[in-house]
Amino acid sequence: MKCILCEKRKPKRYCPAKRTSICPVCCGEKRGVEINCPLDCQYYVEGQKHHQQKMMQQRIKKDGAKSYVRKAELYKHNPELFAHLEKGFVSIFRADKTLTNKDLVSGLDLAYKTLETEKKGIIFQHLSGNNYADEISNHTLGIISEYKDSPEVGAYRITLDFGIMVVKEFLDEATFYMENDVNPKSYLIHLMRYYPEEEVPAQAESQLIIMP
Ligand SMILES: [Zn+2]
Repeated sequence: MKCILCEKRKPKRYCPAKRTSICPVCCGEKRGVEINCPLDCQYYVEGQKHHQQKMMQQRIKKDGAKSYVRKAELYKHNPELFAHLEKGFVSIFRADKTLTNKDLVSGLDLAYKTLETEKKGIIFQHLSGNNYADEISNHTLGIISEYKDSPEVGAYRITLDFGIMVVKEFLDEATFYMENDVNPKSYLIHLMRYYPEEEVPAQAESQLIIMP
């Protein structure tokens, strides 16, 4: 018996997404990336936690704990805003997996510069000519302005300064991944793991669900 993914190694781990066993190497490399892992897979959940902790420790070692304290403070005030931004980055990445940490950093940097310019009272959108970066920037600015300007967001409404701080947090974190992780897509993968693709249930509509 050989692993169905690499056809080389022994399949030792049961993969719920593939509904068969695969080898630990394929599991480690492909989980959450090429394999659409369900959130109840222990390898997936443990692996995700492990990698994130490793990167976090490295960043704390380098930049101190203040970076995470600051982010946690901002998050506490507006978890919805964070989720909207992250979901957008993830869906742009899902649509084209060639996107890298570097593109994300460029895009966030453009959005950050644009918001800083707005703070000076000038409306001017910085663009790069890199389509990915521009897309990331557009998405970021769209979400920030929605939370800043539209009254429908109610209690979650933000100031321009708050928006700038949140974008800066993402920019700093993504920059850390870009500079310190060998995997050029690691930060995007890290985010993607929080937002697993919604499975379209086959034949779900034809099934009759009887509630007791
Ligand atoms: Zn394998």
